[in-house]
Amino acid sequence: MISAADVEDLTGRVRGPVLVPQDEGYAQEVTGFNLAGVARPEVVVGATGTEDVVAAIGWASAHGCPVGVQATGHGADEPMEGGLLITTTRMQEVKVDPGRRTARVGAGVRWRSVLAASLPHGLIGLNGSSTDVGVIGYTLAGGLPVLGRTFGWAADRIRAAELVTPDGVLHHLDADHEPELFALLRGGKGNLGVVTSLSFELVPLQAFYGGGIFYPGADAHQVLDAFSTWAPALPPQANTSIALLRLPDMPMVPDPLRGQFLVHLRFAWAGDPEDGAQSLAPMRAVSHPVLDTAGPMDYRDVDRIDMDPTDPVPLFHTGGFLAAFNISTVEDLLAVAGPGADFPVVAVEIVQMGAAFARPASVPDAVHGREAACFLGVIALLVPPVAQAVPAAVGTLLEAMAPHAPSGVFVNHYGFPPTEAERARAWPAEAYTRLVQTKTALDPQNLLRYQHVVGQGHR
Ligand SMILES: Cc1cc2nc3c(=O)[nH]c(=O)nc-3n(C[C@H](O)[C@H](O)[C@H](O)COP(=O)(O)OP(=O)(O)OC[C@H]3O[C@@H](n4cnc5c(N)ncnc54)[C@H](O)[C@@H]3O)c2cc1C
Repeated sequence: MISAADVEDLTGRVRGPVLVPQDEGYAQEVTGFNLAGVARPEVVVGATGTEDVVAAIGWASAHGCPVGVQATGHGADEPMEGGLLITTTRMQEVKVDPGRRTARVGAGVRWRSVLAASLPHGLIGLNGSSTDVGVIGYTLAGGLPVLGRTFGWAADRIRAAELVTPDGVLHHLDADHEPELFALLRGGKGNLGVVTSLSFELVPLQAFYGGGIFYPGADAHQVLDAFSTWAPALPPQANTSIALLRLPDMPMVPDPLRGQFLVHLRFAWAGDPEDGAQSLAPMRAVSHPVLDTAGPMDYRDVDRIDMDPTDPVPLFHTGGFLAAFNISTVEDLLAVAGPGADFPVVAVEIVQMGAAFARPASVPDAVHGREAACFLGVIALLVPPVAQAVPAAVGTLLEAMAPHAPSGVFVNHYGFPPTEAERARAWPAEAYTRLVQTKTALDPQNLLRYQHVVGQGHR
C-alpha cells in the first residue's frame, strides 16, 4: 500500500508527472492501444528521460512496489493491477546516423518516427505490421518484421541498450559490456528491467513492392492450398502472410471489406517492383480478388499491407510457431475457422518464415522461433456479442493446430499465459533457464511481475 507521503516522495524525485487514480489525467496516462488491458496502477510516473526511470525504479525498490512499463499499450494484454507504472510516451528521442546505418531511440518511440527519420537516407528499421507499435517493446521480444525473410529478426540488429535494472542501477550494454545481460535482453522482453534507449542497425532499401489481395472467404480452401505450396518456395526478397478475416461491420473497416469473411494475402518485396509483381503473379490467378492493392509502394506506406487497426480496441491475441503449413495444416485450420464455421475471431494469420528468419544472430541472443516454418497468429476483438465466445473458440483452434505446432510460442503474440510452463515456451529451453536465473538474481523482490515475466510467480 502506497501512502500519500510515499507519492510525495516520488514526486520530489522525478521531473515528469506523478499521478494517482483520483488525478485528472490518470486515465489518459494509463490508457494505450489495447483497451482490454488498461492498467490500474496505484501510481503512474510519466518519465521524461533516463534519470526519471532510474529515480522511479529506485523509489519502487525501496518501497517493495511492483513495477510495470508502458510505451503505446499495444502489448497491454493483461491489466496491470496496483504497483507503479512507468509510461515512456515523453521519451521521444530519435537519432539516425546514416554513415554508420544506425538509429538510437528513446523508450517511447514508435516505428513511424524511426521511418520518418531514416527513409530520407534510404534506410529502414525492421518494423512489424503496424508502425504505430513501440520500437522497444516490439524489439526486445525478438520483433517479427514485415521484411523478416529478407533481413531477419529485429532483436538481432540491436547494437547497444541502456537498461535500468530493478535495483535502480543503469547499465550500458553492448556485445563487449555485460555480454550475458546483453544476450538475454535481446529476446527476453521486459524481464530484466526498463530499457531507456536502444541503438540498432538500419538496413538499406532502394525499391519496394507491396500490398494485399483480398479473396472471397468462400474460396478459402483453394487460396490456402495454393499459398501452402507457393509461399515456402519464394526467394528471400519475398515476405508474405495470409489471414482468414471476419471483419466486423464497424466504421473502422472500409468498404468493400466491412462485415465480410475474406482471405487476405499480404505481400512485401524488398527489391525491384517488376520482380515483385512476377513473384506474386501465381497468387493473382488463384481466385477472383475482391480487392487487390499490391503494387510499387513507398515504404512509408508499409502499414497499408496488413491494414492493422490504428484506433484503440479491446483485443486478445495469441499464437505460436508452426513446423509446417501444408495441405494437412490447411484442412485442420479450415475445419475450425473455414467457410461455414461460426468462428468469432477477427483474424487467423499464417506468416511465412524461413530465409533470414532462420539465420543465427551475429552476437548470440535469446530470440525464439528461428527454426519455425511459419507463425500462426490469432486476433480477436473483445466486443459484444462475440467477446464471451472467444476463449473457447480460440482454445478449439489451438487444439486443432497443436499437431503442427511443436516449436513454442512467440512472446510478442502470446497473450497472457497463466502458468510458468506456458510462459517458458516463449524461449529456447537453455535461454529460458538463463533468463530465470538472471531475472531472479537481479530482481529478488520480484518487482517485475506483470505480463510475460518468468521465474518467481506472476502478479
Ligand atoms: C496492431 C498490432 C500489430 C502488431 N504487429 C506485430 C508484428 O508485426 N511483429 C511483432 O513482433 N509484434 C507485433 N505486435 C506485437 C507487439 O510487438 C507487442 O505487443 C509489443 O509488446 C508492443 O510493444 P509496445 O511498447 O508498443 O507496447 P506496450 O504495451 O507499451 O508494452 C508492452 C510490453 O513491452 C515491454 N516494454 C515496453 N517498453 C519497454 C521498455 N522501455 N523497457 C522494457 N520493456 C518494455 C513491457 O514488457 C511491456 O509490458 C503487434 C501488436 C499489435 C497490437
